[in-house]
Amino acid sequence: MTTAQARHWRSAADALSVLRREAVLTRPQLGRHLGLDSGPTSDLVKRLTRAELVVERRAPATGPGRPTTTVHAHPAGPLTMVVDVRHGDWRIGTCDLAGEVTIAATGRHDGTDPETLLDRLSARIAPLTASLKPRIVGVGVAMPGPVAEHLLAQMTMLGWHDLPIARIAPDPDLPVVMGNDATMAAVAEARLHSPHPYTLLHVVVEVGVGGAFIVDGRPTPSARGLHGEFGHLPFGDPAAACPCGARGCWTVAFDAPAIARRTHVPAEPDPRAWLHRLYTDPAPTPEIRATRLALAVDLGRGLAGLINALDPDLITLGGLAAHLRDAATDEFDRAVHDGLMIVHRDPPPRIVTALSGADAALIGVGLSAFDRVLDAEMLARWASRTPVSR
Ligand SMILES: [Zn+2]
Repeated sequence: MTTAQARHWRSAADALSVLRREAVLTRPQLGRHLGLDSGPTSDLVKRLTRAELVVERRAPATGPGRPTTTVHAHPAGPLTMVVDVRHGDWRIGTCDLAGEVTIAATGRHDGTDPETLLDRLSARIAPLTASLKPRIVGVGVAMPGPVAEHLLAQMTMLGWHDLPIARIAPDPDLPVVMGNDATMAAVAEARLHSPHPYTLLHVVVEVGVGGAFIVDGRPTPSARGLHGEFGHLPFGDPAAACPCGARGCWTVAFDAPAIARRTHVPAEPDPRAWLHRLYTDPAPTPEIRATRLALAVDLGRGLAGLINALDPDLITLGGLAAHLRDAATDEFDRAVHDGLMIVHRDPPPRIVTALSGADAALIGVGLSAFDRVLDAEMLARWASRTPVSR
């Protein structure tokens, strides 16, 4: 690659990194992000369009002035293969350069045989990748537990240890990015709020508590990637043993067996769906109402502790967390307020419902895989093997 070509593809990579970080991107906004005037921005977008990386669409008129366009991923552009393994089920799909996910396959698992699950995922991913070659440029895998160095280090709720996730990659040459699903959901969440929060605390409640702290659109780094395990802060009953090996973890009160004991309602095979029904039941029994109230207070107190520790610009509630808040709003607000240091009370921090929905982890891991692979060299390879638009 000549110096001029390298510069050309570096500016293309910079533009595509802006596309990944913005939920909606107009051509003038792209120019402002890159520090370019309208002429050079227009030339750059034309080059990206010719290379089948982006397409432009007419933006809705917002007032007087010249109409502008929004920039989107090209429908024949590069994709990352994305996998989300959750408690009870899994999903496989593709993610484009703008974070748009298309689900291709789904299935269920009972958590008892993780090696067979990896085999089943490999068997679905291989033909899908083959049918889309050469558009697949990387693989992203989201798992419901801490992931370190290409191993599932410890997935406590299912009793999985050191599972070699990397082997589901369809091709050893395809880079694989793996992450905890709550962290990946936080990456997706950070791009949806306007203006972007510089620091974002995302807390997720599903069959436990997780989350991530995002700075400038990316998870904070840590020694082995095992950060964000907020559920294992000692905010819970000091005597309660957690499957992670510690005692007193915040998450223990939120797991299905604990809630079944408190509510006297037997847990069902799909614990997530069961908890969703319990938290949103319009006619709860006194036990269910009391349990929801206690969990909303636990959630509010824990959030206050995290806010004191991290001082985020914005706090987002993912998964079932917003349902718990809504089940006992006054008690939740009071627990947050009482747990906050005075310096954080005026104005109080903004705590909002997450925007990213059920595909959040897939979007986050797909965008993170692009972060890993998308550079000048990859784009030069892409252009050399893709037919350029006429
Ligand atoms: Zn724990």
